[in-house]
Amino acid sequence: MTPRGIAILGSTGSVGTTALRVLARQRAGFRVCALTANTNATLLRAQAGEHRPSFVGMVEASEGADAGWAVGAECLVSAAVRDDVHTVINAVVGAAGLRATIAALGAGKRVALANKETLVMAGGLVTAAARRGGGELVPVDSEHSAILQCIGGRPMSEVRRLIITASGGPFRTWDAARVQSATVTEALNHPTWNMGRKITIDSATLANKALEVIEAHHLFGIPYDRIEVVVHPQSVVHSFVEFVDGSVLAQLGVPSMELPVLYALTHPDRITDTGVPAFDPVALSPLTYEPVRHDTFPALGLGIRAGVAGGVAPAVFNAANEEAVARFLAGELSFGDIARAIASALVAAGDAAGDTLEALVAADVSARAHVREFA
Ligand code: MG
Repeated sequence: MTPRGIAILGSTGSVGTTALRVLARQRAGFRVCALTANTNATLLRAQAGEHRPSFVGMVEASEGADAGWAVGAECLVSAAVRDDVHTVINAVVGAAGLRATIAALGAGKRVALANKETLVMAGGLVTAAARRGGGELVPVDSEHSAILQCIGGRPMSEVRRLIITASGGPFRTWDAARVQSATVTEALNHPTWNMGRKITIDSATLANKALEVIEAHHLFGIPYDRIEVVVHPQSVVHSFVEFVDGSVLAQLGVPSMELPVLYALTHPDRITDTGVPAFDPVALSPLTYEPVRHDTFPALGLGIRAGVAGGVAPAVFNAANEEAVARFLAGELSFGDIARAIASALVAAGDAAGDTLEALVAADVSARAHVREFA
């Protein structure tokens, strides 16, 4: 077959570099056509030298940019809608990836979505863009990749419940008082996954799991009361799907993002790849499960309630969380303040409708301003 053209938005981040590692092994099936990065010109230049894309873009204008590169935030959309691109891997961090996702789906592309904030902020608009433009949304998130693989093309009327696994993060066994005052270094020390800074903090607060519940609601069109979360410290079972007859399927694998990235490119097919270590059930045992400690990790409940409330609430939850995490990383807020700042922003936003991109972007902007003032 002719190699499929791939655009990677956010190519110098954790998922972007993982995707390029996978693609370097799979040159027969895929060709890197477009790369964009936020600020890391040095790594972007090295990636462009190796993969020879026809388009290179950088979001932040900088002296490090090469003369032939597109510079500015609009390079994300330009890369996403190119004629030579079949699949867009959207690995941009945060709400900045939204317009590119909508544009790519509107242009009939497959979007391999690692940018879960896109779906959380504007799930209704994104799924509508896919329906309208003929585009296809495939998750890169390991939990959602697991669910997609377990459902295996069966109709959602046969699915009773999704059970999303959570590692529990670095503070799973800490008492509540100690969690409140955890340091940045402690929060960045994730037990099972090696990821970017923002998502690692989200895993420590469990805000990441809230984003994933909202993401699952939109990706699979399933009501919130049929999505559950269970703590599974080993991160080997990536999620469960319970069917209407009571049978449960799970997807397992070593905790490497290379697996869900590759599956997002080939779904519903599978291709030969030996990039990750062989699965060894004995070495990976035992596998254990625990209930979520909602009192210690209130961000999860806040996010799920925002999802159920709908309107601008999920966008407010997402924006407030991004801003609070940035302030925590800057040493301006305590770990416990992250959830308090999100709760405060949700109360301030009220229950406004969120059915246009403008309304959602406005809610995002005010939530960020609210959290910047939070003390
Ligand atoms: Mg995940």
